Amino acid sequence: MIEPFKSPDPKLIIVSAPSGAGKTTIVRHILTLPIPVAFSVSATSRSPRNGELNGKDYYFLSIDEFNEKVANNEFLEWEEVYPGTCYGTLKSEVDRIWNDGKSVIFDVDVVGGLNIKNIYGDKALAIFVQPPSVETLRQRLRSRSTETEDKINMRIAKAEYELDFANRFDVVLVNDQLEIALSEAEDLVRNFIGI
Ligand code: ADP
Ligand code: 5GP
Repeated sequence: MIEPFKSPDPKLIIVSAPSGAGKTTIVRHILTLPIPVAFSVSATSRSPRNGELNGKDYYFLSIDEFNEKVANNEFLEWEEVYPGTCYGTLKSEVDRIWNDGKSVIFDVDVVGGLNIKNIYGDKALAIFVQPPSVETLRQRLRSRSTETEDKINMRIAKAEYELDFANRFDVVLVNDQLEIALSEAEDLVRNFIGI
């Protein structure tokens, strides 16, 4: 039997950024590469977008189910990222992926990313994805067509605050030309996990 491709020393890769900066695009690219990395599926109380699958993109929970997991101490970190909408990383996700001999990759907001970095220190690489400008962020959110204009304004207001956190991350990755950003992200991940 062929042994699955396992890493002897699995790590954590945190990808954080204001909404619309491109972290999902970057994380999805990393997951297509032949390297032992798996996605930490977060829990959220928001509804699925078109095409999103429960257990793959998120664990979609009601707010009551979410609060029950908070009360049971099942989260590594969690936050009310937008008023009334909670997101969190389940401790069981890190266990699941490490038990499989893989490094964990997270797509989490800026505060959540720094919280995970604080917990794991040098075992984690914290990448901040920076958009070229706030205006570009707005255009990207509009072109993604997943949010109403009100929600876009809410995300932009939060982004202006989040951009100030960039210097607390291990590395800032500017996502201007997508192909360049994807290639830089790949180099960062390969170097960090030693592949
Ligand atoms: P996030 O996960 O940070 O909210 P996404 O990865 O969903 O961001 O990207 C937001 C939108 O911008 C998507 O429609 C995506 O296809 C697009 N996008 C991402 N990176 C770039 C880029 N470098 N240039 C142009 N569009 C981009
Ligand atoms: P979206 O609704 O666009 O999928 O995500 C909104 C924001 O929540 C993004 O910045 C995303 O990275 C963040 N997010 C997703 N999962 C988690 C999580 O587990 N914890 C935290 N703190 N933020 C998360």
